[in-house]
Formats: sequence, structure tokens, C-alpha cells
Amino acid sequence: MKLSELKNNETAVIVRVSGHGGFRKRIMEMGFVRGQKVTSLINAPMNDPIKYAIMGYDVSLRRSEAELITVLSESEADAMLSAEDAQAPNYFACGDCSACHSSCFTNLHKTTQRNIINIAFVGNPNSGKTSLFNALSGGNEHVGNYSGVTVDVKTGHFNYRGYHFNVTDLPGTYSLSAYSPEEIYVRRHLQSSMPDVIVNAVVASNLERNLYLTTELIDLSQRVVVALNMYDELSASGAVLDYEKLGSMMGIPMVPTVAKNGQGLDKLLDTIIELFEGKNPDARHVHINYGSVMEPEISALAEQMHKATDLPQQFPARYWTLKMIENDKEAIEILHSCKEFQSWSEIAEKSAENIQIQLDKDVETAISDAKYGFISGALHETFTEGKRDINRKTRKIDKLVANKWLGFPIFIFIMWLMFFVTFSLGSYPQDWIDSGFAALSDWLNSIMPNNALRSLLVDGIIAGCGTVCSFVPNILLLYLFISLMEDSGYMSRAAFIMDNLMHKMGLHGKSFIPMLMGFGCNAPAVMATRTIESRSSRLITMLVIPFMSCSARLPIYVLFAGTFFPNHAATVMIFLYILGVLVAALSAKLLRAVKFGEDETPFVMELPPYRMPTTIAVIKHMWEKCVQYLKKIGTVILGASFIIWLLSYFPRPLVETKNENDETITYTAAADVIDAENSYLGQIGRSIEPIMRPLGFDWRASIAIIASIPAKEIAVSTLGVLYDVKDIDEDFESEALGDSILKDGTFTQSSALAMMIFMLLCFPCIATLGAIYGESNKKRWVIFSIIYPTVVAWLFAFIAYTVSGAML
Ligand code: GDP
Ligand code: MG
Repeated sequence: MKLSELKNNETAVIVRVSGHGGFRKRIMEMGFVRGQKVTSLINAPMNDPIKYAIMGYDVSLRRSEAELITVLSESEADAMLSAEDAQAPNYFACGDCSACHSSCFTNLHKTTQRNIINIAFVGNPNSGKTSLFNALSGGNEHVGNYSGVTVDVKTGHFNYRGYHFNVTDLPGTYSLSAYSPEEIYVRRHLQSSMPDVIVNAVVASNLERNLYLTTELIDLSQRVVVALNMYDELSASGAVLDYEKLGSMMGIPMVPTVAKNGQGLDKLLDTIIELFEGKNPDARHVHINYGSVMEPEISALAEQMHKATDLPQQFPARYWTLKMIENDKEAIEILHSCKEFQSWSEIAEKSAENIQIQLDKDVETAISDAKYGFISGALHETFTEGKRDINRKTRKIDKLVANKWLGFPIFIFIMWLMFFVTFSLGSYPQDWIDSGFAALSDWLNSIMPNNALRSLLVDGIIAGCGTVCSFVPNILLLYLFISLMEDSGYMSRAAFIMDNLMHKMGLHGKSFIPMLMGFGCNAPAVMATRTIESRSSRLITMLVIPFMSCSARLPIYVLFAGTFFPNHAATVMIFLYILGVLVAALSAKLLRAVKFGEDETPFVMELPPYRMPTTIAVIKHMWEKCVQYLKKIGTVILGASFIIWLLSYFPRPLVETKNENDETITYTAAADVIDAENSYLGQIGRSIEPIMRPLGFDWRASIAIIASIPAKEIAVSTLGVLYDVKDIDEDFESEALGDSILKDGTFTQSSALAMMIFMLLCFPCIATLGAIYGESNKKRWVIFSIIYPTVVAWLFAFIAYTVSGAML
């Protein structure tokens, strides 16, 4: 718990002190060191500040400061001690404090809490964070989706030398400015979770750009260790780096690592422990010199801010100053509640103006120039370029793959291969799973009496579950390709090739692959939008994916096109696919123009060198996606199937039974009949019939449309029930159904066309909606994804119905 949560007269033991270096140092000098006992004495009026007794004297702390100190109540400590008594005692000296007292060697040091080290991986995309994470945490991990943004954040844990490590794998960022959602997320994470040690993964063979992020971490004044990852590439190039000197110049210890084979990881962990214990000789806070123009401005404001009593203590005043002068929105929002904010903001504005006038460039440029200056100065003294160009292989491959003439055919071939493997080869295991579930249904049908429970199990749960599970092979195969493409570096080449075309739709090159995948199945396609960094492009892409005609809609086309346009079925289908793409493109353009405006992130995309993906990473990625899919979408689709089942099963139709003896007529619920027409579903269908009339649909078509909410293909089996066709199995005898529909005469060529167009464009299935919710984390986008496509579908179907009605 936090020290601030301690009640009056309660005593606790200090476990850790977070916050920036300066704050930690000051507070530790006051005696707030790990292992010390502290007692809360008085809460001042308004609960702030708080008086504590520590090391035999009284001291007052502000609540915001007490929040940065983690403590363990005595009872918690006792409980842990007794649980750990079996283990060997693990005494240690507290090196963090300037006055290390013998009392630090108290028994309480044995508690597990004090042995917990929270670390976070920060680094550029493709710097090997996930590989480091995998290598360290083994199988102990948990993938979560952080709110608001859609990139996975993974947490894991492991033990090493008596310490328990909690690891967080943060999304890749190039800096900590507040431009992209990832950057904002990483910054917020560092501020709110306050990891004990930040591990900055740096590509050793590309130091200049990678160290930029490191300079931002320097400004934060946290405990940082740099993992010089991919050191094998640096060595292979023949370059020489004096990383010890570089580390001491930057005030950050550096450890060469090769995440791929685990080299250097022990050293990395030892260094983390040293930092945690405050024993690393290289770790110190350095100031990056921002030059003769900026420095006086920075120091003037920093001095003011330093005096403030309400400045957040996670980061130093100098950092907040820089952010104020840079006019950083996030930081300004945080500082807004400070008493002196108004005056700081005025000073910052003036400073920014001065800097702009004197240097003839804006503050952000001036600061990043200074940072790059600092880096190149440091590298100049420590780094000797290698003779061998490690990019040679990459350039050679790129000559082929990103070639003006060959790029497209290669890309199309890979896409075709992905599609073919995912949906054609994937259909075999999919069929096996389907028939497994079918056998299970048959078995249940044969052993259970025909009642509501059986119907729920067979028509509700197994039908729903089966649909979800049968997609698993496709998802696995799809992610096999995506992981291979991402990890090898091809994904960014694909985006590079497609960007021109996608840009015309207001999207990003990376939108292409998810959209293409939409032809197979919308739900995983929405999940695949994750690779798009730009938030607006990602949202637009996932919102238009449902217009890409997924394979579940095919049975509907086959039924209607085959029945009503027997000689032109293929043409009609191609027309539908093209219509879907056009509507998607137009909607994307519309959304971009109306809602999102210009893309907020420019199309600067790293084309990382080609690297061999590791098998473990690929398998892990596949597995994670699969679990995520089953968890998220499985629950949603199950729930929805249950609801649809309820609506179609109830109210129970009543059957007249005459009692032979006394000739009274009783009505009992029929056990074996599903009366779709009079069920709630039927009633809903009838009630929306007036809206559907202008499209030429009667109540049965309306019911089929509603019943397709869980999965599109259900529309066909529902029509089968409504048109009373016997023996409609999963692959349905479309001819039998087609004949009944034709005979019935409610559908004409025009309304059949309208029906196909409506089913193409209307609301996506539940699984897709679930995925959209999972990815966007906003209910309003789910609601949008129901309403907008349905309105569009209605309009297009109406036009098709009226126009073709006049023509045919
Ligand atoms: P992240 O984006 O920072 O999470 O980076 P990843 O962990 O996904 O790694 C990107 C690519 O670099 C993958 O293909 C890894 O196999 C590869 N990789 C990771 N660490 C090393 C390393 O130390 N040496 C080499 N040669 N490749 C590595
Ligand atoms: Mg990663």
C-alpha cells in the first residue's frame, strides 16, 4: 500500500520510494529508506500534509509525496515473514540511503514485498522488447489490452537471485512526445505505475536514432538501464563500441544483449538489481545541455517550478519545464491544477518566443537538435563505424521486393498465398471441427428428450460455440502469416507498396492487409488493424472492414443469385464484391473528411532491416491471438446466440390436446416445435416489416435479417425454417430452398437483388462487433457500426429495388 493510506498511529515498513532521482535522494536523506519503520502521527487539516515518525524524529510529508512511497503494514510483514520462515534469510545492506543505518538490517528485509522489482521495457518498435520479454519471462505472462488504445501490453513475472521481477512490455515508441497514442500511453504508464527500473531496449546497430528515446528518459530522471540489443549485428558489422564509456557519459549503465539467444540477459538482470539497490556506479542524473540560448530560459522556469509545493514528484521540475516550454498538451493538462500554473504558463510562452526568435526555429526543433547533438557528441567519442554494411542484405532484398515492377506481383502473390492457406487449407480443419460439433449435436439429440434444455444446448450453445471454434484454424494460420510478415520486416514493405492507393481513400498503407483479410472473415480482420500506428487510420479501417464481403455472406449470394439470376450468378457476385469495396472506399473518404480530418501521423514508417523471425515469437503470437479471439469473441457470440435462441424458442407454441374421456380441450406447450413465425423473433420481424417493405421484403426476409446478427450465414438456415424446407443442413440444399422461395412468389428478381445488397452492406455480425469494441474500446463505435452500415444498406437496397424494378 501507499504510505499516504496509512491511518493515524499505524506503523508500516518502507518497501520502496518512487519518483524522480532528485526526489528520491532528498526523501532518502530524510530517513525514508527501505526497511525503515514509519508511523503516521497526524493528518493536518484537509488531510495534507501528514506528520510521520521515522528514525526517532518527526517529519512532515505532503500527501502527493507520501503517495510515492510504498509500504507494508506490520501485519502484512508479519504474515509474509511467517510464510517465508522456511527460506534462507536474505539480509542485505541498503545502499540507497546516504546514511545507511544498521536498523536497515532488520528482519523485515526478508519480506517478499521488498524483493519485488517492477521493470518496464521501453524502446523503438522492432528493437527487440518483446524478444527480451519472452526470453526473460518464459511462459509466465498475461496479455492485456490497454484502454483507449489497441496495442497489446504484456505483463509477466519471473524470479532471479531471490528477487521477484514483474515485467511490462510496453508498445514501441520513437519518443515520449504526446503525438501518438502509444507515446501517450508509455508516458502515462511511466508516470502512474512508476516502474522501479526502466529497461530501454536499443538497437545496437542503429544507435543514433535509438538513443533519442534514451535522452528523453534522461530528462525523466528515472532509474534506467540500456539493453544494447542485437549486439550480434553490431559485432557482425565490425563496429566497435565503448559502451562502458558511453554509459558513464549518459549516466545510464549499458549492457550488450542478444535477445534471440539470451546472451547478456544475466548481466542485464544483475544491473537492474544494482540499480534497484542503488549500487550502480554509472547511474547518475546528467543534464543534457540545451545550449546557451535555451539553458537560461529553462533554468529560470525550472527554479520557479522547483519551489512549488504541488508539482507532481514523479518527474523532476526540469522535465516539466521543458514540457511547458514545448507547449506539450498532456503535461499542461497534468500541471493545470497547480497553483502557480498561470504564471508558469506565461513565463513558458515568453521563453518559447525568445527561443524561436533567437534560434530561428521552434522549441521542439531546437530541443531535438540539441538532443541529437548530445548523442552524436557521445557517439563520436565511443563508437567506431564498422566496415561491413549490415544493411546490404536488406537493400538487396528490397531491390526485389519493393521494386517498381516486381513489387506488386510479389506482394499479390504473398497475399494470395496468405488467403489461400488461411481460407482454403484452413477450411479442412474447420470442417473437422464443424463435423465434430455436428456429431456432438446428433449425440445430444439422440440421448436427450426433446425439451427446452436440449434445444438450448443444441440450437443455442453448440451452434454458437461451434461457429466460434470453427474459425480457430483460420485465425491461427492468419496470424502465422501476420507474425512472419511483421517480425521479418515485410509488413512495412507491404504498406510501402500499397500506400499510394490507400492514401487516396484517406487511409494508410497498412490498412490494406486488414481490409483484404475482411474478404475472409471480418472479425480477425478488425483485430489485424492493430498493426496500423495511426489511430484515425486504424479506426476508419476497422469501421469500413464490414463492407468487405466476408465468406459467411457467400451462402446468401449463392442462394439468391443462383435462384433468381441462374445465368448470371457469377456476374452478380462479382458486382456485389466490387460494390462492397466501393462503399468501403467512399465511407473511408467520408469518415476522414467529416470526422477525423487529416491523418495526425505523417507517413514516416521505419523500414527495418530484414530479420529472421524466431519460431518461439511466431508461435507465441499465434497462440496469444487465438486465446484473445476465443476469450473476447467467444463470450460475445455465445451470449448473442443465447439471446437469439431465446427469442426464437419463446413463447412456446401451444398445442390443442383433447382429453378423450371428458372432451375438455387443454393447451400445452409443444415440446418439439420451433414456431419461428409466432416466436418473439417472428414478432420482431413482423414489426419491422413496414420498414423493409420499400425494399420488397416481407416478414420472413425481415426475420432472416435479424436472425443473422450472430453470424451472417444464419440468414439462410432461418429462411429454410420459415419457408418450411425439410432437411436443410449446414451446407444447405440451396436448390430446394430456392425452389420454395421461387414458388412462394414473395421475392422477385429486384427484391432478391435488394436482399443480397442489404446483406452485403448491413450491420456486421456479433463477432465483428465484439472485435470492434475490443479494438476501439468505445461503445459509440460499436453503435456506429450497427447504424451506419444498416442505413447505407437500406439506401442501396432501395435504389437497387426501385431502379431494377423499373428496368427488369
Ligand atoms: P519489438 O517490436 O521491440 O517488440 O521487437 P521484437 O522483439 O518483435 O523483435 C523484432 C525482430 O528482431 C524479430 O524478428 C526478432 O527475432 C529480432 N531480434 C530480436 N532480438 C534480436 C537480437 O538480439 N539479434 C538479432 N539478430 N535479432 C533480434
Ligand atoms: Mg513488441
